[in-house]
Amino acid sequence: MKYLSLASFAFVLLFSACSQSAEPPTEPLPRPNILYIMTDDHANRAISAYGSDLIQTPNIDRIAKEGILFKNSFVTNSICAPSRAVMLTGKYSHLNGVLDNGQVFDGSQTTLPKLLQEAGYFTALVGKWHLKSHPTGFDYWNVLIDQGPYYNPDMIENGDTLKYTGYTTDLITDLTLQTLEKRDPNKPFCMIYQHKAPHRNWMPGPKYFDFVSDKKYPLPETFWDNYATRSAAAREQDMRIEDMFLSYDLKMMPGDFEKDDNTGGLKGSKPVLWWENDYKRFTPEQKAAWDAAYETVRRNFRENPPTGKDLTEWKYQRYMQDYLASVASVDENIGRVLAWLDSTGLAKNTIVVYTSDQGFYLGEHGWYDKRFMYEPSLRMPLVVRYPAAIKPGQVTEAMALNVDFAPTFLDFAGVKIPDDMQGRSLRPILEDQTPADWRKAMYYQYYEYPGFHAVKKHYGVRTERYKLIHFYDDIDAWELYDLAKDPNEVNNLYEDAEYQGVVADLKNQLAGLRQSLKVTED
Ligand code: CA
Repeated sequence: MKYLSLASFAFVLLFSACSQSAEPPTEPLPRPNILYIMTDDHANRAISAYGSDLIQTPNIDRIAKEGILFKNSFVTNSICAPSRAVMLTGKYSHLNGVLDNGQVFDGSQTTLPKLLQEAGYFTALVGKWHLKSHPTGFDYWNVLIDQGPYYNPDMIENGDTLKYTGYTTDLITDLTLQTLEKRDPNKPFCMIYQHKAPHRNWMPGPKYFDFVSDKKYPLPETFWDNYATRSAAAREQDMRIEDMFLSYDLKMMPGDFEKDDNTGGLKGSKPVLWWENDYKRFTPEQKAAWDAAYETVRRNFRENPPTGKDLTEWKYQRYMQDYLASVASVDENIGRVLAWLDSTGLAKNTIVVYTSDQGFYLGEHGWYDKRFMYEPSLRMPLVVRYPAAIKPGQVTEAMALNVDFAPTFLDFAGVKIPDDMQGRSLRPILEDQTPADWRKAMYYQYYEYPGFHAVKKHYGVRTERYKLIHFYDDIDAWELYDLAKDPNEVNNLYEDAEYQGVVADLKNQLAGLRQSLKVTED
């Protein structure tokens, strides 16, 4: 310390001696804190900064307004666990080993938190984890077990299982703020704050039961899609709103219906049991509040059960009510964390990122869930605020990927980015100096098949204008979309004579990307 202060004193003397005509010194910025906020399955269409027709999210919008919004932010494999592994490693799924939700993350590999911890950061993780192995590289971690429930979760804190009472979205925020309060203030922090919400099965918190109402949300243009021009992959999935469970998804109770229509199962079927398991978790007070909130929609359903297309639309409305209520809690809690940064004076030197592990279908193509390389699930929200270095009010078209997060944070922290990370630091874009050679195309690959929702394996390339997808494994089918003319992706042009030049060019780009990313045939 003595040496350092003498050195700074000498520097000041030297500087004063020759500073008469020089610019005033600019102090180097201290290393930034990092607050990485990631939710689960939050579609851009449910964020008002992205022009939502469904909900207002003032706190997420605030991050965008005071920083930068990415209009083209994409996930490289649209499913929960793989997306998290990409974020931690800066590598695609085929290299980090988590291809689908069934695999265990190898925590011995190099990760963002480990590199930041070695560089002197306090590293912490609170909330959803979903990678099966215990977290590594964190000074403190407290995570939900697997998906975790919406109410009264068990969590694993540094290896010990603890029980909590309350609404999970609120609790994860309480624990995050407690962790930040208790941290060593002499170290910069990297706080990874990850919500379960708004993942299926979308259970609202007590504050937002007013979403459970007869308010009508607009149906997306493609709600009644018939998949006419597309491959069997689009037709044969199992993620239609039409097939949602009355019990588990839509919160009707046995007695409100005779059979849960998707399975044809009677009371006691699997989805009914799943729902009963969630319902059993409530404390008596929570249960009373829940029952009161759902009483009217349940009675209306019992007394006047819709059928056919009316039932599908009823399911969509019911789904939107619960999904958006879950989002409202997320947004409120983000407001709490932003207020904490303001009150501690840490806001200026903290990079705040809001994103989701991928996008989600809110009725587009008649679907819920994710997985496909189509736009609603390929896109993920990305807004970033860092008042010390990022100008407010920016909007960028530059393509960002979740594989870029680790390199970006390392860059800002002054840590060397390992050569084998495949993403690229977003720092120049954040600082309003997008390089001329920034990527114009991205590679995507999805592997979980056979599996939940029956989405076939596929890979593809998305450029600024086009998207080429190859479904493989038990199928060999290609799809091409001209996003400028067909943003809803309902017109597959792969066989169209006028587009054969485009197809050839995209196949070349795809081969180049697969080679540079070291994708091997499986
Ligand atoms: Ca997810």
